[in-house]
Amino acid sequence: MKYNNAYNFDLYPKTLRWQEGDLTATRTTMWSGPGCHNGCQLIFYTDKDGKLVKVEGDPNSPYNQGRLCLRCLELPEITNHQDRLKWPLKRVGERGENKWERISWDEAYDIIAENVRKFQKETGPESIVSMMGTGRNVSQALGQNQYANFGGPDVCLAFLSGDSCMNPRVALCYVMMGNINVADMSQFRENRYEDDSEWAAPENIIVWGNNPVVSNSDCFLGHWIVESMKRGSKLTVVDPKLTWMAAKADTWLRIRPGTDAALALGMLNVIINEDLYDHDFVEKWTHGFEELKACVQEYTPERMAEICWINKHDLVDAARTYANAKPGCIQWGLAVDQSKIGISTAQAIMCLVGICGNLDIPGGNVLIDQSANLNFSYGCGIDTLEPGMREKRLGDDKFILKTYGFGSTSQSDSVLEAIETGLPHPVRMLWLQSANPIANMAQDAPRVYKAIKSMEFVVVIDLFMTPTAVALADLVLPAAMSHERDCIRVWYDPLRTLSKCGTYYEAKEDEQIGIDLGKRLAPHKWPEWVNTTRDFMNWKLQEGGVPWTMEEIEAEGGMIYHPFNYKKYEKGLCRMDGEPGFNTPTGKFELFITVFEAFGNVAPSLPYWEEPPESPYSTPELFKEYPLVLTTGHRSFEFFHSEHRNSKTSRELHANPLFDIHPEAAEKFGITEGQWCWIENRMGRFRQIARFDITLDPRVIRAEHGWWFPEKEAAEPTLFGVFDSNPNNVIPQFEYGPTGYGAPVKSLIAKVYACTEENSKITPTEQVTKLGGFGYVK
Ligand code: SF4
Repeated sequence: MKYNNAYNFDLYPKTLRWQEGDLTATRTTMWSGPGCHNGCQLIFYTDKDGKLVKVEGDPNSPYNQGRLCLRCLELPEITNHQDRLKWPLKRVGERGENKWERISWDEAYDIIAENVRKFQKETGPESIVSMMGTGRNVSQALGQNQYANFGGPDVCLAFLSGDSCMNPRVALCYVMMGNINVADMSQFRENRYEDDSEWAAPENIIVWGNNPVVSNSDCFLGHWIVESMKRGSKLTVVDPKLTWMAAKADTWLRIRPGTDAALALGMLNVIINEDLYDHDFVEKWTHGFEELKACVQEYTPERMAEICWINKHDLVDAARTYANAKPGCIQWGLAVDQSKIGISTAQAIMCLVGICGNLDIPGGNVLIDQSANLNFSYGCGIDTLEPGMREKRLGDDKFILKTYGFGSTSQSDSVLEAIETGLPHPVRMLWLQSANPIANMAQDAPRVYKAIKSMEFVVVIDLFMTPTAVALADLVLPAAMSHERDCIRVWYDPLRTLSKCGTYYEAKEDEQIGIDLGKRLAPHKWPEWVNTTRDFMNWKLQEGGVPWTMEEIEAEGGMIYHPFNYKKYEKGLCRMDGEPGFNTPTGKFELFITVFEAFGNVAPSLPYWEEPPESPYSTPELFKEYPLVLTTGHRSFEFFHSEHRNSKTSRELHANPLFDIHPEAAEKFGITEGQWCWIENRMGRFRQIARFDITLDPRVIRAEHGWWFPEKEAAEPTLFGVFDSNPNNVIPQFEYGPTGYGAPVKSLIAKVYACTEENSKITPTEQVTKLGGFGYVK
């Protein structure tokens, strides 16, 4: 690793480990858990017992250059928390009673092996499904364990309807251009910013549907945008709320949640009709421009601005600014995925990148894949499935992109359907690794709670006792946290290591659980020499043809950058055959997606706009009853989804769930600031505290997700209050788009009213755990 912050040279040794008094310092990568998607480099300080005492950002790391968020700074508090799971637990009471018995790992493995063998024999390995929460360094462990040890084909995000987190964008990018892409902030080259001879700060950055300085999502550190701003980049921000970044933007598009596709189509209309597109790129490298041109004619800026609740001039200005920027880039986020037309939204946005010639150029959107092309995601180990098993993956019969491998997880709604109906085959065992679906990931959480209750055997692997574990698990296994793990991180470049420097009671690394189970259940699918997680990493590096061992990467400071090329499509670096072009059927960047056409028009080949299933315009009668647009899913500094609710520091800063409402709307509905309120729609309700926000459209409210209350009673009916403040009470399952992707998480309708003693006699959690739910129509 090259150390590019010379002023830190003398302060921090360049080695992987060193001693500072009584403490051992280890240079490593943060991933999880808990944590986030990113992978910043840190220095962990541990005492002689391996206890984490202090954390610092590594100032010598080109990746985060010493920066850390609150969540990493509070790692010592959370890793040493008294409530962490310390050893395996077996349920002794009824599910939900929170009665457990401590058992040994061997006993736990015996119970798991016995159940797995029973299900394999009686209903086939396909009756066992493994799930995880948001993708982190659990995915490779989960995949390998599910495919090799259990033998079933189903790995999925835990009841995330329409796989609506990153997966729609990834699938779209693969069919459209054969690679994923990300805004170029010189992050793939270790000489950052001025020291990089090729990189140029984008003239215009569109921050679309995310708040990067808070979320740091998808391997993208938000502060990189700040660095780019310091070097002259102007911002356009698409967000319903005036975020910190929106406040710094030249143009803020206060969009109606769920209308991102309309905005992108309106911008395409302007750019094409005003002849602002890059003729050279379009002629040489795209397929379907004439079709796109014809398609966008109906999406006039006037009409689209009206749909989006924004000013037409702002839309036109944003389109012109992006098209004229040389270069311009788009940093997109979850809002793109979380609508029913997530795929179309992503397509329309990527059409903007393509026709403006901003693809794979310095300061544009660069094509990227996993570091060293290693398969370390949900598909890790899929080659170990027995012949014929892959074809049984749930949802593949309905969703052709899944069938043909444009997505490495099972379609989540299809898994729920199989659990509820037993079709196309029964599901009897769930393996939930780092997933707390009823608190966070599962839309229609009460329905999912009921579905999991019907499972014969459920194992939860986590850091703390969660509502999901209490309500639904038969076994709960303690997972290691980041400084207790040996791992490699391959999500994009650079290739990074996590180097273990501590242990906690009997908590185990996720990979170790898979290795130990493999010895019992399927030794023939594991190399004999793979006994530790370090062995596992070296095995996967070897398998992937990587010329380094984990130890060699560590010797480089735990981070190795691969050479990075721009305009890879010109150099024959995108296609399997080594020819110039893109890895698509036409070899072009497909504005018109031929794969959709070839598969029998499974989805429109061109981007389109469609109102959300419930909205002021698609269901005007219902909107009279529920007269606000409700959006949810935004991030906060203190929490990562349902994690960190146990942290004293996080809770001191952010004690309770908050929803944002414009003061005018609050007045209209008789709400005062700081008041607990019910947010309700036809499916159910939840309660949060009103926080006034004058920057919101008065027709929009914005609620937090992931809330549960570790300080409350664990046993049912209280169940840590998991449904009390949960917006997933009011979000449906099965509202995905034609390819099985997308869900209307960002674009619901609801009403809001103050909580009173009279209307709060029963909590939503009691409603679900005691009374069977809200009684909505499925
Ligand atoms: S982005 Fe923040 S929380 Fe995530 S690894 Fe980096 S410092 Fe930690």
